[in-house]
Amino acid sequence: MASVKVAVRVRPMNRREKDLEAKSIIKMGGSKTTITNPKTVDGVTGDSMRERTKTFTYDFSYDSSDCKNTNFISQEKVFKDLGSDVLKAAFEGYNACIFAYGQTGSGKSYTMMGNPGDAGLIPRICEGLFSRIAGTTRWDTASFRTEVSYLEIYNERVRDLLRRKTTETFNLRVREHPKDGPYVEDLSKHLVQNYSDVEELMEAGNIKRTTASTGMNDVSSRSHAIFTINFTQAKFDAEMPSETVSKVHLVDLAGSERADATGATGVRLKEGGNINKSLVTLGNVISALVNTNLKKRSLFVPYRDSVLTWLLKDSLGGNSKTIMIANVSPADVNYGETLSTLRYANRAKNIINKPTVNEDGNV
Ligand code: ADP
Ligand code: MG
Repeated sequence: MASVKVAVRVRPMNRREKDLEAKSIIKMGGSKTTITNPKTVDGVTGDSMRERTKTFTYDFSYDSSDCKNTNFISQEKVFKDLGSDVLKAAFEGYNACIFAYGQTGSGKSYTMMGNPGDAGLIPRICEGLFSRIAGTTRWDTASFRTEVSYLEIYNERVRDLLRRKTTETFNLRVREHPKDGPYVEDLSKHLVQNYSDVEELMEAGNIKRTTASTGMNDVSSRSHAIFTINFTQAKFDAEMPSETVSKVHLVDLAGSERADATGATGVRLKEGGNINKSLVTLGNVISALVNTNLKKRSLFVPYRDSVLTWLLKDSLGGNSKTIMIANVSPADVNYGETLSTLRYANRAKNIINKPTVNEDGNV
């Protein structure tokens, strides 16, 4: 049993926020994040507002807002804390997953993929995987196999980002394997021998993702991207040869403003594509899992209601070591979205997973 680990990360002010002379409303210290309501005076009564700040505690609170700060958190530090956990899990034979959550422009893709010369978690994890394999001294006792795939979920349709012929890549079916669980039928899997193999595929996939977004209305803010590493280790040293298989999902979610909660009992699905079904269902799945944990009785979890939650079923309350990184803007102009992200992240701390080593004996 292991709780989902939750980190919150605040990015620097962007050009637009600076032009608006926005003020920073996020403060971090230790594992705590404090947000200040920028509205100092009640617009109706004219009274000063009492509850101006709210403080949340997470596994990590990452201040990446200013590289001149002494407590500035770099891409490398995020990898050292979170990415290396994922690598460790993979080598031990566990499944692992990292989700990046947050409003559009909050730093999800920066955290997961990064910029040229400023790599994020996905490239660093892949690089780390190969350097660890290369560091293996006893090649007579172990062998490794790494395959990657990269997909996008847009409007509940799955698209392969690594296949060359575009005609075959749209609208792949999600099916369920009796033992291995949900998977995408006909999704391409690419055997990779070294980091540059991965780099080439990642770049091609990223280009494919952005090419679509220039043609269609802000695809990248509406779509979820999942980069998956399938890592198999065979060991021959013990009396009984064994094989472990780990799946690592690295997920860049759609902008959280795409799931607009209305009312206390649930969320309304708006028409016209403003609301993202997978993101809304992710919220509902998290609620069900949190309530299961808090009320100590199992509740129905609506995994099957969306493609995202169905594919990532194991990563949510199941057999996986899972991390959520909630990305936020520092600016007062984003107060509402930021507070909602901090609350979402706060709830996710209460999800309990059950990771187990995926081992097949007698291979
Ligand atoms: P999202 O994927 O959540 O929509 P992005 O990752 O694209 O947001 O970030 C928006 C912009 O802010 C990008 O230009 C990105 O490079 C920049 N950015 C985000 N986070 C950081 C950070 N921690 N440090 C520096 N720049 C960042
Ligand atoms: Mg993005």
